[in-house]
Amino acid sequence: MRYISTRGSAPELGFCDVLLAGLATDGGLYLPQHWPALPDLSGTRSYAEAAAAVMSPFMGDEIPADVFSELCRDAYATFRHDAVVPLVQIGNNEWLLEQFHGPTLAFKDVALQLVGRLFDHVLRERGQHVTIVGATSGDTGSAAIDGVKDCDNVDIVILYPYGRTSEVQRRQMTTVDSPNVHTVAVDGTFDDCQDLVKAMFNDVAFREQMSLSAVNSINWARVMAQIVYYVTACRSLGATADAGVTFCVPTGNFGNVLSGWIAREMGAPINDFIVASNSNDILTRFINDNDMSSRTVVPTVSPSMDIQVSSNFERLLFEMNGRDGGMTAEQLQRLRHSGSLQIEQDQIARFIAPSFRAARFDDDATLAEIRRVYDSCGQLLDPHTATGTAAVRALDATADGRPVVTLATAHPAKFGDAVMRATGVAPPLPTHLADLFDRIERTARVDNDLVAVQAFVRAAVAR
Ligand SMILES: *Cc1c(COP(=O)(O)O)cnc(C)c1O
Repeated sequence: MRYISTRGSAPELGFCDVLLAGLATDGGLYLPQHWPALPDLSGTRSYAEAAAAVMSPFMGDEIPADVFSELCRDAYATFRHDAVVPLVQIGNNEWLLEQFHGPTLAFKDVALQLVGRLFDHVLRERGQHVTIVGATSGDTGSAAIDGVKDCDNVDIVILYPYGRTSEVQRRQMTTVDSPNVHTVAVDGTFDDCQDLVKAMFNDVAFREQMSLSAVNSINWARVMAQIVYYVTACRSLGATADAGVTFCVPTGNFGNVLSGWIAREMGAPINDFIVASNSNDILTRFINDNDMSSRTVVPTVSPSMDIQVSSNFERLLFEMNGRDGGMTAEQLQRLRHSGSLQIEQDQIARFIAPSFRAARFDDDATLAEIRRVYDSCGQLLDPHTATGTAAVRALDATADGRPVVTLATAHPAKFGDAVMRATGVAPPLPTHLADLFDRIERTARVDNDLVAVQAFVRAAVAR
């Protein structure tokens, strides 16, 4: 399998190079040359086996099948549920797909537990070492750290905004006791952290000297790993081509829902998708009104969706343009100048209208939804997930008799304050994190200043 860039002018690469590169050299995102068909899963007996089967066509011959199977087995052995990503019924024909049984209690573990192991494997084979740098508003940092904390060939440096992550989120990053894990609080906002990371990548000498790498949500391997649970959920529900599932996805970056779209391209019996947003509703405005104009980010009770640039949308755009990279690059150029993306009416009619519905909910509506679900079935939802179930209800999505599955992207205890406000119940942390508040934190604090942060990275890696 070869990979091509959404902007059409970067070299084609194989899986391992795409994994390590993240972004293509033309600024685009990598996609496989074609979508392979789903394999027959009837012989698979676990999530890890299904995962290896679904993803193996994407490897080509770059990672031997037995090695890849073992990486999947190890990655999903870290989950505290035998089904890894289990379905739970919350209403008539309405389900949650719980994605939070991994080490850091959010859906990013599903991809990053595997991606960390893939990085380690490929780097070991090549005799290379990289320094992963990333900025986080909370969930990505801890999931990325946990994914690579035992890797000899990776150092990881995570920047987070001082005082702006939840206590649980910060402690999940700062209490990991591995010599290759480094966290630093920046005196600034999440955007400042992201700008610092970008500036480090743009400093070519620094980038090369440190062998900088990234595992952000545009990395193809993350999108790939997320395809699997759409397939296994369809299978568990006995869905068929005539009776496909509706998936509702709380999203910001379009990453999770894009993976579902790919699962459907590969043949998974999926009817359509509901995109749920918080007040940062660029995707909802786009799907409902063809308005993809960026606004300033407002903080919400679902911070992992506080995003106004949905970077993974570029992959769907490329498909909408008939996989014409030049056309996609031009369109994105216009977006940068005008601040707004315009899609042709026939593209909306062919790609968006039949596949995507969307709804947005502000904090009050989200908290009210947590309360409603708790009252109706005793299930505690985290605020991200609640935007999803609220969307299912607002759009009356179960009316046509299809099974509707909302992706439960975080454990309620990860956003315990919001859940407490909504229900008066404090969701307990799972036992493996019960002593989180007693663990020793290891972190540093630096000014919002490139030179200071680069000095931190150098010192951390020189350990
Ligand atoms: C990251 C995250 C999301 C959004 O994921 P996308 O990649 O934007 O689809 C939703 N919920 C939680 C809890 C997350 O951590």
